[in-house]
Amino acid sequence: MADFSLSSLPDLPLDLWVGGTARPAAEGGRFDVLDPATGDVIASVADGGVDDAMACVDAAEAAAESWAATAPRERAEILRRAFELMTARSDEIAHLISLENGKALPDARGETAYAAEFFRWYAEEAVRASGSVMTAPSGANRIVVLQQPVGIAVLVTPWNFPAAMATRKIGPALAAGCTVILKPASDTPLTALLMAQILADAGVPEGVVSVLPSRSSGKVVSAMLHDPRVRKLSFTGSTEVGRVLLREAADQVVNCSMELGGNAPFLVFDDADLDAAIEGAMVAKMRNAGEACTAANRFYVHADVAEQFSSRLAERMSSMTVGPGTDDATQVGPLVNEESAAKVDELVQGAVGAGARVVTGGSRPDRQGFYFEPTVLVDVPLGAEILGEEIFGPVAPVITFTDEDEAIRMANDTEYGLVSYVYTGDLARGLRVSERLDSGMVGLNRGLVSDPAAPFGGTKQSGIGREGGHEGMLDYLESKYVAVTW
Ligand code: NAP
Repeated sequence: MADFSLSSLPDLPLDLWVGGTARPAAEGGRFDVLDPATGDVIASVADGGVDDAMACVDAAEAAAESWAATAPRERAEILRRAFELMTARSDEIAHLISLENGKALPDARGETAYAAEFFRWYAEEAVRASGSVMTAPSGANRIVVLQQPVGIAVLVTPWNFPAAMATRKIGPALAAGCTVILKPASDTPLTALLMAQILADAGVPEGVVSVLPSRSSGKVVSAMLHDPRVRKLSFTGSTEVGRVLLREAADQVVNCSMELGGNAPFLVFDDADLDAAIEGAMVAKMRNAGEACTAANRFYVHADVAEQFSSRLAERMSSMTVGPGTDDATQVGPLVNEESAAKVDELVQGAVGAGARVVTGGSRPDRQGFYFEPTVLVDVPLGAEILGEEIFGPVAPVITFTDEDEAIRMANDTEYGLVSYVYTGDLARGLRVSERLDSGMVGLNRGLVSDPAAPFGGTKQSGIGREGGHEGMLDYLESKYVAVTW
């Protein structure tokens, strides 16, 4: 799509989306959305406040009863239409993601297909919210279990997958019969607003989905969590903000699903197929320029193959084309904002100061925008900050090990537990190690785990609950037990 700009999307709302229409913020505020490749303003979006948040809850409440009572097949067909509309508009959506987030177009296209798939998957799941019936052990009555929508859901999403993190929540919530308010990240509100328009075009009734861009995220989310009509929070973002929201949600005992930060270890054993391990490492590290909660953050490589692995990974990473995400040739786009680029730089310089050696990259290129060079570091000392923090950039620190127990111990030595990757030619070892890794997901001889049909989520401080798969809809349903005598 040559010459893409926002004028290519005449139906893109730039105001709040409340009750099925776009409208300005009650106090009239707006904020700018920047192009990460240049720092230039690409749009001005309405800045929702607490009154607007309450208007969203009013709209969600007004629609809640009839949406919950809508036949599951009808909800399914609306979601299926949303999948078809997203698929038909995938090129526009990918360009919009790339424009506001900075990611390279191939990554944005991948995200668009992944995001649309949540609507298809939950169109299929909407008609499968089955309960159960059994005879009580005493024989005196029947135990009937119904699955009912949990109620109005507040959805808070990050900037790194502006489409997929929204559809991964909206799909199961709507399938379950909940009405929702989506608070997108302030760096990337445009894709979420386009999703609102697409869902309306697919036939989602007024008030079932509201989208509330806001620079006052703390205030608006807190206000909604303290409104007793809100019964669900689904949050994807940093562990730090997740902790704050768990505390906020405690006041009204709001049901919480939390998809938080990661610090994924990537283990390469000496019997691994190195070609496959390099391919997997490129996906696990470089998808989205490393701006993924699932990004490989620490590479533990057996000492016998470490030199070969690091030099081959460095060769691949250094040959990638860095540039604006919207350029067709780009493979690595800029990071989302100045703060992110500065943080990656600080982690790399800290590691180098502590004794790590740069094999390739190592700094911010001398150009406009929020770029960081694809970087491989070796001899990274244990205890370096870069091994304990989410890097969220195109940087691969490599550490060596000599035995399996040592590798597992180092891999598990983190408060996070989202995903781990293991490369080995020995399937028994692969399964044994997978069982011992303390994470919600494992990529065994694969650098990509995300799949709308699979339960995505973490252990420890990476989260609570699962998104995707059959499990994803259960997070929006509550079991009601009816004791029946008949
Ligand atoms: P973030 O700073 O935690 O922000 C996430 C969302 O929370 C944004 O919409 C943000 O709004 C909002 N927010 C910030 N402070 C808030 C507060 N006090 N109260 C209510 N909402 C608040 O995270 P991010 O930088 O956008 O995203 C990167 C993080 O997300 C990483 O840690 C990554 O690992 C994690 N992530 C996890 C998953 C997963 O599935 N586990 C997937 C993707 C990303 P504003 O933008 O307005 O600040």
